[in-house]
Amino acid sequence: MIALGIEGTAHTLGIGILNSNHEILADIRKIYQPTGGIHPREASQFMSENMDSAIDSALEEAGLNFGDIDLISFSQGPGMGPCLRTVATAARTLSLHYKIPILGVNHCVAHIEIGRELCKLRDPLILYVSGGNTQILKLKDKYYRVFGETLDIGIGNMLDKFGREIGLKHPAGPRIERLARNGRRYIELPYVVKGTDLSFSGLLTSAIQKSRNNSLEDICFSIQETAFAMLTEVTERALAHLKAEEVLLTGGVGNNLRLQEMLRVMSAEHKARFGVPKNYCNDNGVMIALLGLLMHESGIRQNINDTEVKQRFRTDEVEIEWR
Ligand code: AMP
Ligand code: MG
Repeated sequence: MIALGIEGTAHTLGIGILNSNHEILADIRKIYQPTGGIHPREASQFMSENMDSAIDSALEEAGLNFGDIDLISFSQGPGMGPCLRTVATAARTLSLHYKIPILGVNHCVAHIEIGRELCKLRDPLILYVSGGNTQILKLKDKYYRVFGETLDIGIGNMLDKFGREIGLKHPAGPRIERLARNGRRYIELPYVVKGTDLSFSGLLTSAIQKSRNNSLEDICFSIQETAFAMLTEVTERALAHLKAEEVLLTGGVGNNLRLQEMLRVMSAEHKARFGVPKNYCNDNGVMIALLGLLMHESGIRQNINDTEVKQRFRTDEVEIEWR
C-alpha cells in the first residue's frame, strides 16, 4: 500500500509518501515565510498556490503517478482554519477524482507517531513542544492523555513573540538558540510551574522588559534556561509519577539542542531512554501519511462527510486503535 499525506496546519505545506513498510519515498516541504507573525489567510494562499507543484514534486521524488496512490490522508486539525480548509479541499478533490480512500488525521498524534517510529520507542512519555502546543502526554486506556500543559501560551509562540519584540525574524526560536550560545550571565526571570502545568506569559513580559537594559545574548540565554528548566521539571515529575521508561521530545522547539541536552541528562538519571526524531520535529507530510497508514491498517475508514476540519482538534480526542 502506498500512502500520501498532506500537512498544512500553519506555515508548512508538506507532502509525504510512504509504503507499507514505512519507508519514506518522498518528503517535500514548502515553508511560508511571513514578515511579522503568521497571517492565516496569507498562509492558506501560500498553500493553495504551492499545492500542485508540491504534489508533483513528491510523486516525482517517489517515481510514482497519482494512480499508484492507495490512501490519501491530510491534517484535519488543530490549526488555522483557512490553512486547514485549503488542505482538506485538495485532499477531498484528489480522493473523489482518483477514487481513493481519504482519512483526516490529528496533527499532534502524527507528531507522536513519527517520533515513536523513527526513535524506535514503544511507550514513551511525550513532551510535545511546538508553536501553539506545550503538552506532556502518555498513552493510557487507548488515548494519549494530557498529563501536563501550558496554562496560557505555547512555548514556541512565547519565543516567537519575544523575538519579534527584540527585532528577530520569524521563526525566532532558532535565532534565540544561536544568540543564547554566547550568553554568559543568568538574568532572573519568572519560573512558573504548577504541578505538571506551566505558564509562560509572565516570563515573556518580564523578558521583554529586561531586554531593554541587558545584552540580547544574556537575555536569550536566560529565557532558554528558565523555560527549558520548567519543561524538564514537569517532564521529570510526570516520568516519576507514570513510571515511564522512555521519553520522546517532539514539535518544532524539540530542535533546540539545549532543550535536548537537559532532557537527555534528566532521562539518563531515571534510566529512561531518550529520543528526538532528527529532521522530523518540524511539520511534515510524512507524519501525516504514516498516521493515515496506521489508522487504515487498524480498520478506520471515513466518508467525505467525516472530513470537515477541526480547528481545535485535541490530542486526547483520538482513539488510538493501532497500539
Ligand atoms: P511547529 O509549530 O511544530 O511547526 O514548530 C514551530 C516552532 O518551533 C516555532 O515557534 C519556532 O520558533 C520553534 N523552533 C524551531 N526551531 C527551534 C529551535 N532550534 N529552538 C527553539 N525553538 C525552535
Ligand atoms: Mg506541528
